[in-house]
Amino acid sequence: MYNFFWYSLILLMVSNEIFSQPLVYDPVVAHRGAWKKNQLPENSIASLRHALDIKCAGTEFDVWMTADNVLVLNHDPDFGGKHIEKSSYAELSPKKLDNGETLPKLEDFLKEGCKDNHFTKLILEIKPSKINTDRGRKVAFETYKLISALGIESQITFISFDIEILKELLRLDSNLHTQYLNGDWSPEELKKAGITGMDYHYKVFYKHMEWVKSAKDLGLILNVWTVNAPEDMDFFMEQRFDQITTNEPELLYEKVKRVRENLEWELVWYDEFDYKGLPDSSKWSYDEGGHGWGNNEKQYYKKESIPNAEVKNSKLYITALKEAYGKSSYTSAKLTTFNKLSMQYGKVEVSAKLPHGKGNWPAIWMLPESLKNGKESWPLCGEIDIMEHVGKDPKVVHVSLHTLLYNHMKRTQITHFDSIPLALDQFNTYGIEWDDSKIKFMLNGKLYFETHKGQDGRDITNEGWPFDKPYFLILNLAIGGNWGGEIDDTIFPNVMEVDYVRVFKKK
Ligand code: MG
Repeated sequence: MYNFFWYSLILLMVSNEIFSQPLVYDPVVAHRGAWKKNQLPENSIASLRHALDIKCAGTEFDVWMTADNVLVLNHDPDFGGKHIEKSSYAELSPKKLDNGETLPKLEDFLKEGCKDNHFTKLILEIKPSKINTDRGRKVAFETYKLISALGIESQITFISFDIEILKELLRLDSNLHTQYLNGDWSPEELKKAGITGMDYHYKVFYKHMEWVKSAKDLGLILNVWTVNAPEDMDFFMEQRFDQITTNEPELLYEKVKRVRENLEWELVWYDEFDYKGLPDSSKWSYDEGGHGWGNNEKQYYKKESIPNAEVKNSKLYITALKEAYGKSSYTSAKLTTFNKLSMQYGKVEVSAKLPHGKGNWPAIWMLPESLKNGKESWPLCGEIDIMEHVGKDPKVVHVSLHTLLYNHMKRTQITHFDSIPLALDQFNTYGIEWDDSKIKFMLNGKLYFETHKGQDGRDITNEGWPFDKPYFLILNLAIGGNWGGEIDDTIFPNVMEVDYVRVFKKK
């Protein structure tokens, strides 16, 4: 007990610091512990341990009191066919949980829950008594007495469907963290009663979205149960709920990781293509001409020409046509952000669906302003290829960097390619994360390829790493040429669809 006291005291000091000012968005609360994925019993020590292991922000559990005043964990009012409130612990305990555990006593559970735990809040639900409201108050009193003896008040959030239980707890200690579950009190009513949060069924929030804002304005903690569907998780994360209670903490945690990454980045330039007609001229310029673009390409890139570049259905369509124009037999479009977006370091995300067919050579890429301004020539200037695809090799997506010392003319470009089976059949997000020491190529938010300045003993001057200067973005659909190769004339018209282009700076 002595050791436990000092341990609790230290934990209290540490936990106050961690819990009062979360540095990162972390709403994951495991509902009745993290049980589902590993098929553990709900409300078991094993499901508690797993919630701690995967570092949930909170783990929830349900508390009843036996006829002889032992606080135990269980969801239902009955255990092993016996009414918990009307049975003694000795009568209940012969029946084991499915994993062999004895019906957990709250005291043992809390000691386990505080061991090596610097992350996970314990969300303690006191079940309303089936006998009467007074007994509910007595359960609240006994629970508080235990928590206070262990000195772990700051680690516990008390939740209940019974407002009288929460009122009793606040009478005992007005500083306790409390959340009401029943969904029938407004944020103003809760605030007035001294309750610190609302933990309502997700359908209640869908019906009363106005409560989300007023709860935030009043400084109440927002928690929601039980959110298991991915689209509901997305919704409540977008609403920045403090806590989201779920049977699927592992899935929610994966989603949270992505939200956290976005919190690191500030959107500085974008086109969502939510308009109709030509691409927005404040954001896009054109490269025009039919001279082969150094690669013996066969298309003529037209300027401000529908349908070669057209926005409709909330997307940009870059369309290649079998159409004689100038000396070319095909037309297409090459959009650039030159003089519209100047980017040195940051993150680019382009959601695109690539065209089918031999001869296509769609690309999402970047060149430096120094090339356009005539101050440097290719390949000394550098080139960043975020996505290149050739129709003759339909499942493969390439990313590359070109420099004076490492480029495709010398076959020394820094490059990576892999089979992406759904490259042509769905929208994928192609992007980079770029800073002064590296460029990461991302595919659907996951790392695809990464290269560092000076990696493998490469030159770090402008001749080997020309990526410390402003670049602009290019979207185009080339036809044929040195890499696009043989053209299947039956594929036209064909289209690269772009759902959005987003550019971020590190915060
Ligand atoms: Mg519960």
